[in-house]
Amino acid sequence: VRSILLNPGPVSLSEGVRNAVASTDLCHREAEYFDVQDEVITGLLQVYDCERQAWAAVLMGGSGTTAMEAMLASLLPSHSRLLVIENGIYGERLSRIAEIHALEHAAMRLDWGAGIDLAALGELLGAGGFSHLAAVHHETTTGRLNDVAAIADLCEQHGVSLLLDSVSAFGAEAVPFDSPAVMAVAATANKCLHGIPGLAIVLCRRKALEQAPTARSLTLHLPDWASHQARRSTPYTPPVNAVLALSQALRELRDQGGWQARGTHYRKLAGQVATTLGALGVDPWLPAAESSCALRSYRLPPGMDYNALHAGLKQRGFIIYAGQGGLFNELFRLSTMGEISAYDMARLQQALRAVIAGR
Ligand SMILES: *Cc1c(COP(=O)(O)O)cnc(C)c1O
Repeated sequence: VRSILLNPGPVSLSEGVRNAVASTDLCHREAEYFDVQDEVITGLLQVYDCERQAWAAVLMGGSGTTAMEAMLASLLPSHSRLLVIENGIYGERLSRIAEIHALEHAAMRLDWGAGIDLAALGELLGAGGFSHLAAVHHETTTGRLNDVAAIADLCEQHGVSLLLDSVSAFGAEAVPFDSPAVMAVAATANKCLHGIPGLAIVLCRRKALEQAPTARSLTLHLPDWASHQARRSTPYTPPVNAVLALSQALRELRDQGGWQARGTHYRKLAGQVATTLGALGVDPWLPAAESSCALRSYRLPPGMDYNALHAGLKQRGFIIYAGQGGLFNELFRLSTMGEISAYDMARLQQALRAVIAGR
C-alpha cells in the first residue's frame, strides 16, 4: 500500500500526474519539449492571472531553496540594502543566502512562529535604510501564514521592493501580485502545485530581470534562464519529467477551480484533522486563524514523543512531519497538501484515534 504524505511536500500525486512523469521520452532540444515548457510557463502565469507583459515565469532544475537562492542572487542590484524577516527556518535561510552571496543585509529577528509586528516593520522601512525586503509567505517551520498583503503595502508605502518565498503557498494562498512593490516570488513544483520534485520556479517582474546585476552564479542566473526560455531554448538540461508532471498538475489545478478552490479544499481537510485531534486532547500549537491552509502544527499528545507518534502513523500508511530544531520535542506538523481523498481522510482520522487514544 502506498503511504499518504502529510509532510509539506513532496506530496502524494494524482494518477494523472504520476502517469505524466513517465508518459514519454523527450530530448530537451526538440520542439516537443519546448511545447511542454511553453505550456508550463503559460500555466504558471495563469495561476494568479499575471500579465505576460509585466511578469516572467522562470523554471530551473532544483528544489524550493534553489528558487530562493536564484531569486536573491540574481535580482538584487549590487548596491541594494536588504532587510530579511526571520520568524522561522526559511526566513533564516534567506539571510544565509544573502550572507553567502555577500549581499548587504540585516535581519528582523523574531521567535519561530511569532507574528510579524507590522508597526515595527513600518518603522524599520520608514527609516529609509533598506531598498529591498525578503520575506517568507507561509513559514512552514510552524505553519504561520505571514500577512504578505500588509507587508507588500508597507513596502509600497516606503518605496521598497519585495521578494517573497512563497514556496509553500503558491497555488493555494493569495499572493499579492497586484502590488507594485512585489518584484519576485519563489515557488516549487512539488508543494501546492502537486507536481514532482526537481523543478524550482521564480515569477519575476520583467523590469527586475532587465535591471539585474551581472551574474553571481552560472547556473542560478534568472535572466539567463528567462531569455533562453523566451526563445524556446534552455541553457542546461532541465528536469524534463518534472516539467511533464507540472504541465499535467497545472491542468488539474485549473480543472479543480484554481488556487482559491485548492486553498478551500486544504482548509476543509485541515479542519477535519483539527477536530479529530481536538477530541483526542491534542491542541494546536498555533491558532488555526494564524495558520496557512496547507499545514498546521500541533502540540505532541501528552505522554507521547514524536518518534512514537510518527511510527504508529507510518505503520498505518501516513507520513507526518517533525518539528525542526528545538521544536522537535514540542510539536508535530501535518500538511493536507497533495492528492488526499475523502477515503484517505477517513482512514487518517481512524489512524489518529488508534495511535493517540491507544498510547
Ligand atoms: C519547502 C520550503 C522551501 C524549500 O525547501 P526545499 O527542501 O529546498 O524544496 C523554502 N521555503 C519554504 C517556506 C518551504 O516551505
